[in-house]
Amino acid sequence: MKYDVVIGLEIHVALLTESKFLCSCSTAFGAPPNTQCCPVCLGLPGSLPVVNEKAVEYAVKAGLALNCQVHTFSRFDRKNYFYPDLPKAYQITQDTYPLCTDGFLEYYIDDELRCTAITRLHLEEEAGKLIHSGSSIVDSEYSLVDYNRAGIPLIEIVTAPDITSPRQARLFLEQLRLVMRYIGVSDVKMEEGSLRCDANISLKPQGSPVLGTKVEIKNLNSFRALERALEYEVKRQSAVLERGGKIKQESRTWDERAGRTLSMRSKGDAPDYRYFPEPDLPPLQLDPAWVNCLKDTLPELPLARLRRLEESYGLSRYEATFLVNYPDFGDLFLELAKAGEDNTALVNLLMGDYARLAREQGHLAPGRIAELLRIVAEGLITHNQSKAVLEELFRSPLSPREIVRDKGWEVLRDAEQLRAMVQEALAANPDIVSRYRAGEERLWGYLVGQVMRAAAGKADPKVVNELLKEELARG
Ligand SMILES: [Zn+2]
Repeated sequence: MKYDVVIGLEIHVALLTESKFLCSCSTAFGAPPNTQCCPVCLGLPGSLPVVNEKAVEYAVKAGLALNCQVHTFSRFDRKNYFYPDLPKAYQITQDTYPLCTDGFLEYYIDDELRCTAITRLHLEEEAGKLIHSGSSIVDSEYSLVDYNRAGIPLIEIVTAPDITSPRQARLFLEQLRLVMRYIGVSDVKMEEGSLRCDANISLKPQGSPVLGTKVEIKNLNSFRALERALEYEVKRQSAVLERGGKIKQESRTWDERAGRTLSMRSKGDAPDYRYFPEPDLPPLQLDPAWVNCLKDTLPELPLARLRRLEESYGLSRYEATFLVNYPDFGDLFLELAKAGEDNTALVNLLMGDYARLAREQGHLAPGRIAELLRIVAEGLITHNQSKAVLEELFRSPLSPREIVRDKGWEVLRDAEQLRAMVQEALAANPDIVSRYRAGEERLWGYLVGQVMRAAAGKADPKVVNELLKEELARG
């Protein structure tokens, strides 16, 4: 039987505020354990939380960038559960009245534009971090707790279950990360945990309107893990259904090393969080004018930039995607293209050797890149030589023209000089010459190569070709 795959994602994004959500502790990553805590984020009796305005601002910006309705009234709730990384034994979150609802995000799967609905986006606080003495909680003698992370502001983003393949889930998450980076509300590093994702997945007979039983997968800490875990679940669930079995509603964890998901807990064991309104915080009431102001501060978002690069600059999807995925390259391209540089030459340069060198050593000043393009266009150096000049630009403070002059890299066009080199090459290879004349045309390239070598690669290939033709005709 054929099945439709139904996937929904739940994403947590740590916001890049300098202080925590409900107290003034620092959020800097990598400090010694338990040095960034206070009575509020440790939940000591009598301490009172105060909402960080920057966290609200970032959450609103994220909601706007995801085309959500931002509610001027929202409320905080307590989510009660016991776990050692949660010092208060409850998490301050938003349950009944979230900050944002009803958004969507558009992104491409190959050439096809897809749209995934965002059900809700709300603010909440991060838990602490457990550090196990062994490799995992089950084989550890003891665990330590670091509360530096406790109370960092998070947004939780929940999608509608309208993703239909593991690959689509990954592409959606990649686009979401890009949007968060563009608006600057998070550093969205999956390896540091500032972007996390859980996935719900179920299967149903193809075309059926009835949803199947869903399974939640946790512990997906890379894009690859997300896609692989979902692929594994599609196979596992269809095998169960093929056998006539039933899918159990449960939470499963992804075991990266084994390449499979494992059952964590079934629905019956799911905790009852006993949500109730947070008594220590007033509801969040936003001024609509402030929300509108934030809307005006949003930068151009990835999809809009992609379209502009294709439509106004004539770039291919491949080129535009590169520039969108690496916004620093995109900014550089737009700055230089605006200054009138040739789009094709520019994008080829940026995506070629330049990309490798800039990633290792940082970007060059735009003016130096522009000059390099210009001296190639003018014919001062060949395209081939421009690679050497580029390497040199990363080492030397000189301008491209100065480098060419210093190194004596100007293209050699002088017909007299080149003719002598051609004649020498022919004289030195009588055997090749006679074979060429006898019809072995492929030897032409060899002869050109000999002249180029004599000219240390600086000869203008067009002139060399013409002279070689003349000299061979003469003999
Ligand atoms: Zn604190």
